[in-house]
Amino acid sequence: MSTRSVFAAELPWPDYDAAVRDGRRPILVPIGSMEQHGHHMPLHVDVLLPTEFSRCVAERIDALVAPPFTYGYKSHQKSGGGNHLPGTTSLDGATLVSALKNVITEFVRHGVRKIAFMNGHFENSWFIVEGVDLALKELRWDGITDVKIVILSYWDFVTEETIKRLYPDGFPGWAVEHGGVLETSLMLALHPQLVQLERAVDHAPAKFPPYEVYPVRAEWTPPSGTLSSPKEASAAKGEILLEVCTKGIVDALRVEFG
Ligand code: ZN
Ligand code: MN
Repeated sequence: MSTRSVFAAELPWPDYDAAVRDGRRPILVPIGSMEQHGHHMPLHVDVLLPTEFSRCVAERIDALVAPPFTYGYKSHQKSGGGNHLPGTTSLDGATLVSALKNVITEFVRHGVRKIAFMNGHFENSWFIVEGVDLALKELRWDGITDVKIVILSYWDFVTEETIKRLYPDGFPGWAVEHGGVLETSLMLALHPQLVQLERAVDHAPAKFPPYEVYPVRAEWTPPSGTLSSPKEASAAKGEILLEVCTKGIVDALRVEFG
């Protein structure tokens, strides 16, 4: 008999039922996207990273990890390169919101009362809020008022001190981190077999005007698809990020979930 998996969908239903029925055990829901991440990383970076964060956090707070949302909201040109790029495969906002609402109310039906969305794709942010809001409203109509949902993005737990340590030449800002040092370092630490650093394209951080145009002006996105250079990425930086963010998330969820 192996030790019980933290991944909810790896359990037989009676074990899952016993784990969640009393509502005390949190369930962590990774949410990402299928989105190009340059020449050097796979399309599923935004799924793989929050799934690993969820696994690390779940082991420390005795939570379960739900199957990840593997498609997300449309890639934004100034934070993800844009939705016009090959490989990037996105949902309409209404589709994502509806799916989130369905999954929340299903987990609540099972007994779950503590849910944390572990976001790995910036563009999902407000759609998660909307799905959560609609789910809580629907649950209130059913008289269920004891559900607590946390929404977080792992990069928000990177401390100022860590930024100084990891970006000695200056931090380009989260908006242009897409496929850059942060994600590449985490991938090198967690899934090195999926990174081909020798194919990484070195370029200056993308510069955008202070407005957007639709259809997008494709030439605004660097041809590589990354918005800043991943050349300074390393597994050692990834380990630091993993530790700092995991600790921050664990502390936050202990405060919110008790
Ligand atoms: Zn990403
Ligand atoms: Mn993304």
